Amino acid sequence: MSKIQHKTVVEEVLQSVFSEFGQRDSAPRRALLEALSQLATSQEGFTAHELQQRLLKSGATVGRATIFRTIRQLMDKGVLDCIDFADRTRLYRVCGGRILDTYKHHHHMACNVCHRIVDFQFCFPKDRLNRIGEKEGFLIQGHSLTLYGICSKCQTTTTKRNSHCG
Ligand SMILES: [Zn+2]
Ligand SMILES: [Zn+2]
Ligand SMILES: [Zn+2]
Repeated sequence: MSKIQHKTVVEEVLQSVFSEFGQRDSAPRRALLEALSQLATSQEGFTAHELQQRLLKSGATVGRATIFRTIRQLMDKGVLDCIDFADRTRLYRVCGGRILDTYKHHHHMACNVCHRIVDFQFCFPKDRLNRIGEKEGFLIQGHSLTLYGICSKCQTTTTKRNSHCG
């Protein structure tokens, strides 16, 4: 799937989310749409604050409440994935999610140093997870899995910095 198609689908979902809000076609709404479409194309992770700053730079003032409401809605729709780091940084990422035909069940690998996020498609067999649940009387409805570590780029710099530590 090309980036253009991806962008269009994300835009469609965003439009429907905004309609649910009952928001008129306003400048902040258009700015949000543009910013999130760009983030869908670049696939970079972003904080709520970074999204707000990006909008400010484009000349649109969007309040924190609106930013968080939009993020919440997009997560509910499966458009945004969320990755929490041990340093309390919370990054969102437009992974396309369950709305795209090409969507593949995936998990994330996250760098603790630079917060880079990479997808991978390994997962545990479903029946295995269900059996684990059954043992404790649980009906399993979902799961999450994120691997945290240090990316190759940061390993080079970290090794240099910590070389005296052995
Ligand atoms: Zn994802
Ligand atoms: Zn890194
Ligand atoms: Zn999985």
